[in-house]
Amino acid sequence: MPKESAAAREKRASQILPILKNLYPDARCALDHANAFELLVATILSAQCTDVRVNMVTPVLFKKYPTPAELAQAPQEDVEKIIQSTGFFRSKAKSIRESAADIVEKHAGKVPQTMEELTCLRGVGRKTANVVLGNAFNQNVGLVVDTHVRRLAQRLGLTGESDPEKIERDLMKLVPREQWTMVAHWLIFHGRRVCGARQPNCGGCRLLAHCPEGRKLTKGK
Ligand code: SF4
Repeated sequence: MPKESAAAREKRASQILPILKNLYPDARCALDHANAFELLVATILSAQCTDVRVNMVTPVLFKKYPTPAELAQAPQEDVEKIIQSTGFFRSKAKSIRESAADIVEKHAGKVPQTMEELTCLRGVGRKTANVVLGNAFNQNVGLVVDTHVRRLAQRLGLTGESDPEKIERDLMKLVPREQWTMVAHWLIFHGRRVCGARQPNCGGCRLLAHCPEGRKLTKGK
């Protein structure tokens, strides 16, 4: 198949976005949180873990350690015990305690609001920073690329990359900036409800006409 031109890809993206927007008007961050600090911690805990599981653990954690200062002072073993069911609990406990300590020591107890400062916190990478900036501070600085966004962007032919930062750059070129936070939610919802990792439901997918992978999978059916 001939390589798709940049203009053709842009056109397809412009057709895909309104469909996703219409399909998921209720799309939002699935991690329960009351403020930026809670969202930061919940996002760190969500690595390799479901949001549902994280939402079961965080109320207990935030009841006992509600502020960065309290979490920074919390005993490692106690935090490990509370978050154990989220997996990788030793390194996650270390990350959330250390990032809380950084917030206290370098930012007067407030979660910083820039990509540069957030990614300097221990245990915080670009994906976590994007979640916090987009959902707690309403800033479209980048685009969250999790496992669903990555799979959907690839199947929809919006990127040929597999590295999350390169995928993010491709999507940032195709999606208007004011939609960067929402498009990640839309793709995550679509990934959970229609385009699963193992069994994409292409026959029931509203994006089929614009999806190279879907056309391949349904060819001859
Ligand atoms: Fe996924 Fe199939 Fe829909 Fe493409 S057509 S987005 S592969 S479910």
